[in-house]
Amino acid sequence: MVCSEALLTIDLGAIRRNWQRLQDRIGPNCVCAAVAKANAYGLGIERVAPALYEQGCRFFFVATVNEGVNLRRLLSVDATIFVLDGLRPGFESYCLEYQLQPVLFSRAQLERWHQAQSHLAEPAPCAIKFDSGMGRLGFSQSELQALLDEPELLQAVQPLWFISHLACADEVAHPLNQQQLQVFEAALSQVKQLLPNIKSTLANSSGVFLGQEWHFDLVRPGAALYGVNPVPGKTSPVESVVSLRLPVVQIREVEAGGTVGYGAEHQLQRASRLAVVLGGYADGIHRAVGGSGGAGRGWLSGIEVPVVGRVSMDTTVFDITAVPEDKLPPEGEAYIELLGEHQGVDDVAVAAGTIGYEILTSLGDRYERSYTDWGTDWDTDCGKD
Ligand SMILES: *Cc1c(COP(=O)(O)O)cnc(C)c1O
Repeated sequence: MVCSEALLTIDLGAIRRNWQRLQDRIGPNCVCAAVAKANAYGLGIERVAPALYEQGCRFFFVATVNEGVNLRRLLSVDATIFVLDGLRPGFESYCLEYQLQPVLFSRAQLERWHQAQSHLAEPAPCAIKFDSGMGRLGFSQSELQALLDEPELLQAVQPLWFISHLACADEVAHPLNQQQLQVFEAALSQVKQLLPNIKSTLANSSGVFLGQEWHFDLVRPGAALYGVNPVPGKTSPVESVVSLRLPVVQIREVEAGGTVGYGAEHQLQRASRLAVVLGGYADGIHRAVGGSGGAGRGWLSGIEVPVVGRVSMDTTVFDITAVPEDKLPPEGEAYIELLGEHQGVDDVAVAAGTIGYEILTSLGDRYERSYTDWGTDWDTDCGKD
């Protein structure tokens, strides 16, 4: 990429501080890991993972073996890398070669993992996943029972970690939180009879805030590290991480009655000044924030400006009539802020009818990500020789 036109800035210092805040909160008997799947929630694994490692994080989670291989190239072997979404046939050797810990959730996976390391003197580390109520991945209670009834396989594989995942941790009062905790504890105590040293982990970002009972040996936050509020409806305990400003490529004066964009869906009620910015749904500006009923907005010179018309693939139109002439930046210097001090990922998520996670992971490949740390500009490739 020559140079990105939008300004997407990721504050690595904020990510570190968010991680440290969670580590401090859970106390010294529990370890704070970092979930860094999907390119660190879209923010750029190559910069995010080393920053977290430097801060002291030694446990990382990714979704796939491919992500694990990529992450291992960035982290030395004293960092543990878990692969959350299973071990598909043929991937065993990559896990062994790159020292990835697969999270296993079927007897077939356990058997394959066992076979793949028949040449090793000691079992290679792995984790097992139990479904305590999420209804997604994991051994069911009866499947776990079957494994425990014929203990040879588990004894041979010697999993180091017992993992489960919460379905409703972001809704503090949801009864499933307590229920999953009990189911998890009961299963864990059974597993411990066979594997007394096994460690356990249940909580994602929001789970950290449910209370100490949910913490076990390790917590696995992702979203909270990257600035998504883990306690919706309450003041966020984490700092925001991402700012995004899109360049204005045209300012137009349009008469009352004129329409804007595809479908001519938006008709101007008054003579208006419009700004067309570079950045559309291909860049993660959700189409739902435009069109009729769209609640998208941005800020220009500190003034709130609404999205008008439908969001296109590469461009979005804002009504900037509210910005006085003397506050209009000169052409080439005008940017509309989409994420930043005026609105965070959670606000944009509300406008788009989604969650902060999806706003982050939608941030497109056309943006050059530039990084700051501890408030200092590290680098962007732009503007340098
Ligand atoms: C994605 C994921 C997490 C992280 O969840 P956040 O809500 O982003 O903190 C933790 N555990 C598992 C199993 C996951 O898939």
